[in-house]
Amino acid sequence: SFNLATILRETATATPGHAACRTADADVTFAELDALSDRYAAGLAAAGLRPGDKVAVQLPNGVEFLTAYFGILKAGMVMVPMNPLLTEREVEHQMTDSGARLMVTPETFGDAGGDVDGEPTVEIAPVDPDDTAVLIYTSGTTGRPKGAELTHFQLYMNCTISGDAFGVREGDVTLMALPMFHVFGLSGVVNVAVRYGSTMSVVPRFETQAVLNAMHDHRVSVFVGVPAMYHAVVNADLGDRDLSALRIGSSGGAAMPEALMRRFEERFGVVILEGYGMTETASTATLNHGPEARRPLSIGTPVWGVEAKVVGPSGASLPPGPENVGELLIKGHNVTKGYHGDPAATATAEAIRDGWLHTGDLAYKDADGYLYIVDRIKDLIIRGGYNVYPREVEEVLHAHPAVAEAAVVGRPDERLGEEVVAAVSPRPGTTVEPDEIIAFCRERLAAYKYPREVRVLPELPKNASGKILKRELRTP
Ligand code: ATP
Ligand code: MG
Repeated sequence: SFNLATILRETATATPGHAACRTADADVTFAELDALSDRYAAGLAAAGLRPGDKVAVQLPNGVEFLTAYFGILKAGMVMVPMNPLLTEREVEHQMTDSGARLMVTPETFGDAGGDVDGEPTVEIAPVDPDDTAVLIYTSGTTGRPKGAELTHFQLYMNCTISGDAFGVREGDVTLMALPMFHVFGLSGVVNVAVRYGSTMSVVPRFETQAVLNAMHDHRVSVFVGVPAMYHAVVNADLGDRDLSALRIGSSGGAAMPEALMRRFEERFGVVILEGYGMTETASTATLNHGPEARRPLSIGTPVWGVEAKVVGPSGASLPPGPENVGELLIKGHNVTKGYHGDPAATATAEAIRDGWLHTGDLAYKDADGYLYIVDRIKDLIIRGGYNVYPREVEEVLHAHPAVAEAAVVGRPDERLGEEVVAAVSPRPGTTVEPDEIIAFCRERLAAYKYPREVRVLPELPKNASGKILKRELRTP
């Protein structure tokens, strides 16, 4: 029968004694995780919950999260993962919006399902492949997070495709430092590791020293992260830690600057494969499909069974070439059924038209069909009538030896409509001179593109998914 949770049962049967996850203080085998989540499923049923019910989970990365997640799936219920850092008001909104019947927190974890005695054998509830497995919220980078329904089939396909592309296998140890409540961590790390029997090296939340320790102690071989995580590791002092087990990197969630990619690859001798996805596309929609096919700055090509096109204002597909920038549209098995809490279905109808998901991202294609993200439509700057794509300016800033992180935004300007402003953080041990940065950009960019103002911050503001919050930079 069908259920995404079978990925755990199958691996637990094949390699029961293999570590499913390792934390700073414990190892849990696949057989143990299978048994723990069986008990959790039985506990949820004993508490009166029924298949199809929604259960919110607000737990940090760890064994409890994994137990609740697979328990909920096994019971045929729907998990609603929630960021542990949400405020009370935000939690209230997501509880009402999702219609969750129960909320699992560190305090209520035991009551919800952990306290069932004995060793119940749980029959994994058969579901329809198109039943919702997870109702998951977007990162809230551009506004209020939107709940996207993802099915058992979509998530099964995504972990199968991603794990296959990275060649994830039993002997691998995958870094689990992305939040498990976000689609990238859940589908791109948890499900992949469980599906292919690799061990997760679990870090409660991204913190550079903890990540470096986990990478050394657990001999991490697969690094999965957003660019901010690559940035933190490449600039860190490793001490006498040995990271030589690393064999591949996977990046997504935000644009990977070419300079950062090259530095990381040189320092660790591995290739980074960049992919692109959204919560609405059950994580990965496009990928660089392997080290040989890899093209820096590109998000690669669509994954199996998925189509992508770049369209102009009239809706017609644009020809290849960097001059032909339009909106990226995605169609295929990975596109969400729709947004939750959208009774009139207006948000869904606007986002998905004729099966094509309008991503809100600007892109172009090259002659071989490789896609390049230019920027989010919402982040485009129009200065004196000219389009300035922040990403292009950010790539130049990243090439400056004193710059660690960079983000470019528009600031309202009476004469020009908008003016280009850069925010940068310095690399450890360096100082950034705004005038010097402006001159560096002026040499490399057309007159209408280079930033007229450079703000230096110790660190750029980011959300829990590790994405730079440009809206916070727009308010001076
Ligand atoms: P919200 O929709 O709530 O404003 P969000 O769009 O950041 O937040 P996610 O679903 O986590 O929420 O992220 C999807 C977005 O992340 C994409 O639409 C795109 O803008 C960005 N993104 C993902 N991968 C890449 C990539 N490789 N390069 C550039 N941008 C990327
Ligand atoms: Mg979005």
